[in-house]
Amino acid sequence: MDRGLKYIAVAGDKETGKYIHFSGKHIGHIRRKYYRLRRIFMKNKNMKALKRLENKEQRIIQYWNHVISKEIVRFAQKQGASIIKIEDLKSIRSMKKIWKRSDRNINSWAFFDLEEKLTYKAQLAELEVVKVNPFKTSQECSNCGNVVKKNRRGSLYTCSCGYKKDADVNASFVISTRPSNEEKAITAT
Ligand SMILES: [Zn+2]
Repeated sequence: MDRGLKYIAVAGDKETGKYIHFSGKHIGHIRRKYYRLRRIFMKNKNMKALKRLENKEQRIIQYWNHVISKEIVRFAQKQGASIIKIEDLKSIRSMKKIWKRSDRNINSWAFFDLEEKLTYKAQLAELEVVKVNPFKTSQECSNCGNVVKKNRRGSLYTCSCGYKKDADVNASFVISTRPSNEEKAITAT
């Protein structure tokens, strides 16, 4: 699963070539509205209204994360997968680039909330959730393994090997074939 730019989340399985993505359009609209309101309340130092706003926004995000995580688990089951791989956000630095600075707190909260819900729902479905190194997943070609930064232009990934795909989908394929952090630790010793 990848947390993309164009989409909130993309789940893909390179083996089957299938993927599902969740558009950020709907949530993006809500987020921008809340962002505007947050600015106003902060400027007016209306902390009570600010807190209320944040609670409301968190509830909306939680609802969507609930829907998304449920769909991802269903997708994994359909692919016959036993493992769901997610990016290890603790080792992600480049992630900051996609967070609007002032929105970073709510965004990082939203990411970890999704991870938590996904882990919980996966466990119920007897699926394992493992973390993989997110290093340059968006620059790597899921077809030939080349890592070329300029292959990713906007929302499209184009490789010299002839491979062309939505950039977020390509990244989710790369993640699906990466070894988990635990696997790597075993091979390293
Ligand atoms: Zn390639």
